[in-house]
Amino acid sequence: MRCPYCKANDDKVIDSRASDGGVSIRRRRECLRCQRRYTTYERLEETIRLAVIKRDGSRMPYDRSKMIEGIRHAAYKRPVSSERIEQIADEVEEYLVSNFEREVSSQSIGERIAQVLRRVDQVAYVRFASVYRQFEDVGDFIDEAQDVIERSADDIPGQQSLFESESSGEAKA
Ligand SMILES: [Zn+2]
Repeated sequence: MRCPYCKANDDKVIDSRASDGGVSIRRRRECLRCQRRYTTYERLEETIRLAVIKRDGSRMPYDRSKMIEGIRHAAYKRPVSSERIEQIADEVEEYLVSNFEREVSSQSIGERIAQVLRRVDQVAYVRFASVYRQFEDVGDFIDEAQDVIERSADDIPGQQSLFESESSGEAKA
């Protein structure tokens, strides 16, 4: 493992233990060159073999990195860490694996990401939902967005101005 401090490729493992209820192994490592310590997580690569059916009917293999990219865009400049984004992706994958066998629509994936994102960050949720729903039912999205904006204005002071500055101005009272 390459040391994050001095970039040397020489380390020893000081401690290993299961984490996340056994899903991953946490290893404490010490760099043999600079003696600094860092932590790595090792997890089994679970290849999800699902065909994703796009809106136009074409198929493509499921790709986690695309989902991560989508969430990352939605969460741009929001207080959502990379670690949290990975967790969101894990949660969505868990759902995919337990509910679909061979194929899943890109819409189902999008809906699920939106659901999870909604609990994490409302601004990221609205951004994400707008992308996923713009070709489906624009009316629904506007209702949904309005609902979220109104509630977030009540619940979280300061969020309304954020929405307003990012919209085209139509939302301004
Ligand atoms: Zn080092």
